[in-house]
Amino acid sequence: VRLDNDAPSEERPNGAGIGISSPERVVFEGAGYTKLDVARYYEAMADRILPHLAEHPVSLLRLPEGLGGERFFQKHAGRGFPDGIANVEITESDGKTAQYMMIRTAEGLVAAAQMGTIEFHIWGSRVDRLERPDRLVFDLDPDEGLDFAGVKDAAFEIRDLLAELDMPSWPLLSGGKGIHVTVPLRRSAGWDTVRLFARVFSHLLVARSPKRYTAEMSKSKRKGRIFVDWLRNGEGATAIAPYSLRARPGAPVAMPVSWDELKKVRKANAFDLGAALERDAEIAFPDAVSISQGRVDKLKDMLDASE
Ligand code: ATP
Ligand code: MN
Ligand code: MN
Repeated sequence: VRLDNDAPSEERPNGAGIGISSPERVVFEGAGYTKLDVARYYEAMADRILPHLAEHPVSLLRLPEGLGGERFFQKHAGRGFPDGIANVEITESDGKTAQYMMIRTAEGLVAAAQMGTIEFHIWGSRVDRLERPDRLVFDLDPDEGLDFAGVKDAAFEIRDLLAELDMPSWPLLSGGKGIHVTVPLRRSAGWDTVRLFARVFSHLLVARSPKRYTAEMSKSKRKGRIFVDWLRNGEGATAIAPYSLRARPGAPVAMPVSWDELKKVRKANAFDLGAALERDAEIAFPDAVSISQGRVDKLKDMLDASE
C-alpha cells in the first residue's frame, strides 16, 4: 500500500495508491492525531491486525469529522465502496440476503480509514462457515466507578476457570473500560452450543461470586458489579478487533497482552496510537480448542455443584 500524501493533492493517485483527503484534519482532539495518522497507523499495523480480521465479516465505526462529529456503525457494504473492502453476501436467519464487508489487505484498512473509519469490529465466525464460531469472547463491563484492578481479577478468574476445562485464553485490553477474554475455537460446534457454553459459564461465575458479577445486561443489576457480557457470542454479534483504534479521547488501542503483562497494566486504555506503533511484544495466541459436549457437561456439573 502507498500513502501518497506527501504529493500535492491534485497529484494524489486514484486507484492503486490511496490518497487521503483532509489528511491534516485532527481526528483526536487533545492527542492531536490526524486522519493521516490514523491511515498510517492502519498501514503500519496491517500485518498484526489482518490475521484477526481474516475472513470475518467486519463492521466499521466511522467518524468522518473526527471524535467531535457524528459517528455511525456501518454493518452493510455501500455502493461505490473501494476495492479493498470486499463485499460478502450473507443469507440471514429470515432468509433474506444482505451485503456485508470483509477486509483482507492493508489497502482495505487504509481505504476504510479514508472513509473516516476509526474502529473495526469483527464477527465471531468466518465467511466460509458462518454457522461455526472460531472464538468465544467474554466482554467484561465494569459498573461505573469500579476500578480496573477488579476487572483484572475477573479476567484472571475467567482464565483459571477456563483452564480447568483445558481451554486456553488470552486477554484484550478493550481500549475503553474493560477486558475481553477470548478463547480461540476449532470450528466444530455451532452457535447454539457456543452460546450455551458462554451463558452457563457466566452464570457459574455469578453463582460463585454474586456480589462481584452479573450475567444480565440491565444497568440496575450491575450496581458495583462486573457484567460478564456473554452476548458477544451470537451469529452477527461483533466485538472490537485486536489492534483497532477506539473512537475515544486519547486515541486508545484495543491491545492484546500476555497474561503476565496484564498483571502490570493499570488501565484498559493503557496503549495509545503512538505506544501501539512502538510496541514490539510478540503475543503468543493460544491454539484453538473445541467446545465439545464433554466440556459443556463438565461446566453444567460445576454450576450444579455451586448452587
Ligand atoms: P468497553 O471496554 O468500554 O466496554 P467495548 O468494546 O467492550 O469497550 P462497546 O464499545 O460498548 O464496548 O461495544 C460493545 C459491543 O457492541 C462491541 O463489541 C461492538 O462490536 C458492538 N457495537 C458497538 N456499537 C454498536 C452498534 N452501534 N451496533 C451494533 N453493535 C455495536
Ligand atoms: Mn465491553
Ligand atoms: Mn459489552
